[in-house]
Amino acid sequence: MDVVLFDVDGTLVDAGGSGRRAISLASEALYGRYDLFDEVTFDGGTDRNICKSALTKHLPASCNDLEVERLLAKYVELLASTLAKAPGYRVYPGVHALLDRLARTRALVGLGTGNIEKGARIKLERGGLNPHFSFGGFGDDAEERAAILRHGLQRAERLLGQAPRAPWVVGDTPRDLEAARAVGARVILVSTGSFGLAELQSHAPDLCVESLEDPRVAQALDA
Ligand SMILES: [Mg+2]
Repeated sequence: MDVVLFDVDGTLVDAGGSGRRAISLASEALYGRYDLFDEVTFDGGTDRNICKSALTKHLPASCNDLEVERLLAKYVELLASTLAKAPGYRVYPGVHALLDRLARTRALVGLGTGNIEKGARIKLERGGLNPHFSFGGFGDDAEERAAILRHGLQRAERLLGQAPRAPWVVGDTPRDLEAARAVGARVILVSTGSFGLAELQSHAPDLCVESLEDPRVAQALDA
């Protein structure tokens, strides 16, 4: 293994609901509507498709790329203060130890996330995780998760000077798995997010665990 891409929410950290809160505050500030995102599913989504789902449903006349940019800019502006106050924020068990271990190998460790990079960095900052991730594929790159992973792997290829060999993706939803398969990556799914172990297992990832503390994770990534 020479490259591994980690999802953020539900995989590395629980942002304590601050993403949903910050985007709702952003839509309140811009449109006077805090409820715009109430019925939108965030799990495994990407920032752009989450925004488009809400705008299509409630403000179809405003559903365009420019408006999505405006909404995300306001969201990022509000995220740091929202996150700082989120009592439920935590880094999941085993994350620090696994990243420390990977730092001692030659593997490139990156992000593969639907978050725009500024948002991902704010979410990781509170847990002290940013230094582990020098690159990634982000929600700025594309709206679809597979395209985001493809961007991440292209950046890895530039850093490695060759195409990644059998990369891994670590995520917490069936959407992570689907995207990883689309780019030919192996997949570890962890049930720290909102999907249970049995549900994740039914999608047949290469490895499925309850926590990244499970020693099989490090073993798989070492291989
Ligand atoms: Mg996730």
